[in-house]
Amino acid sequence: MNCTQLLDLSYFSVRVAIIGAGPAGLSAARGLDADVFEEHDSVGLPRHCTSLVSSEGAESSGISPSLVVSKYNLVTLMNLRGDYIVFRLRKPVYMIDRPGLEDKLAEGIAVKLRSRVTGVEGHYIFVNNERRGPYDVIVIAEGAARRFSERYGKVVRLPGLQIDARIAGRPLEEMNVIYDRKISQSYFAWVVHIDGELYRIGLADRSQIPQKLQKLLKIFRAEPVSKPFGGGVLAGPPAPRLVVGPHALVGDAAGLTKPLSGGGIVLALKSGVALRDSINKGDLGLYESALRPTLLRLKVAHLAYKFMYERGFVHKSLALFSKSEFLAYDYDDHVKTLLLALMTTHKAPIALAEGLRYYLRSEKI
Ligand SMILES: Cc1cc2nc3c(=O)[nH]c(=O)nc-3n(C[C@H](O)[C@H](O)[C@H](O)COP(=O)(O)OP(=O)(O)OC[C@H]3O[C@@H](n4cnc5c(N)ncnc54)[C@H](O)[C@@H]3O)c2cc1C
Repeated sequence: MNCTQLLDLSYFSVRVAIIGAGPAGLSAARGLDADVFEEHDSVGLPRHCTSLVSSEGAESSGISPSLVVSKYNLVTLMNLRGDYIVFRLRKPVYMIDRPGLEDKLAEGIAVKLRSRVTGVEGHYIFVNNERRGPYDVIVIAEGAARRFSERYGKVVRLPGLQIDARIAGRPLEEMNVIYDRKISQSYFAWVVHIDGELYRIGLADRSQIPQKLQKLLKIFRAEPVSKPFGGGVLAGPPAPRLVVGPHALVGDAAGLTKPLSGGGIVLALKSGVALRDSINKGDLGLYESALRPTLLRLKVAHLAYKFMYERGFVHKSLALFSKSEFLAYDYDDHVKTLLLALMTTHKAPIALAEGLRYYLRSEKI
């Protein structure tokens, strides 16, 4: 028996504890007889997410069409100096009802609400400071909170904040991503049309997020209709190991987010299912093997994050290709989309030369 194998399932039942009832924890719990601990009063709340998923991701991860709130076919990348690039999406992007997603996933699962896990030690956990266990597997699905996952690998975590607001006259359509250092030095801001004059407006950056959100609202003359909501946006890299002894990491806790957009709903759902299947087969090693290609892709995307965002090449690209229109293959990989677009234009040699110049710069911008 190798070290990731659990007891023979035909003779023993596996005791599983799951920390966190987000998409990752709940999708792992479906089909397992697990104790699921959630610190809040209900699943899916408080909200933190913009809730955008590609239609392909939604289909492949089993997100029900009934949860789709809005559909988008265009994304515009822009700065505040008048440069913009329009991407027509090959397949639509959805805004989903995010609390509704968790409600659906939690159907039939007895989630232990108001149960905050305060410690994890070997095969035991502490719930509201009381010891529980032993468990054969402890699933760390705590999202971007990183109370327990931090010890298994560092990840770039940027605070993100957004608000639903009305903009009179509906000046922008569909999805808009703003790359401008006045609003975000290290990541980007977004203005996403929801319905009528209603938009979801937000940003992620390293510091002064509330002040920058105020500035963004002022620029677009937007009137808030909700309280601000947000959380940690993760830009990778993914955790080097997804299984350490009896502990398994899923979703944001494993750093399974797209570094260029912070998107992690689909990866949370898929990692939860992959872990559940490996537990049911009695070998946690299967979980790591199933996720290996994804981990590799995310590591490469993290390098692209460093180049585009930390070195600032995204700003240069936007200016270089301003007023162009391209076909987009993968919406929430803004930069992959941009890089693919660069290959298909006559400005590609200039972009490559500029890219090399940025790559060779020793200091960050
Ligand atoms: C501002 C913002 C915008 C985003 N927009 C998008 C987007 O448009 N598209 C997209 O795909 N992704 C987006 N994301 C990322 C997405 O929200 C996450 O990738 C996704 O929620 C990860 O799911 P998860 O189950 O791993 O974690 P979470 O959804 O965070 O769930 C973790 C759960 O664990 C609970 N918990 C944490 N610690 C404990 C504890 N100690 N004890 C008990 N319970 C605990 C939490 O209360 C929570 O319910 C965004 C994130 C932010 C912050």
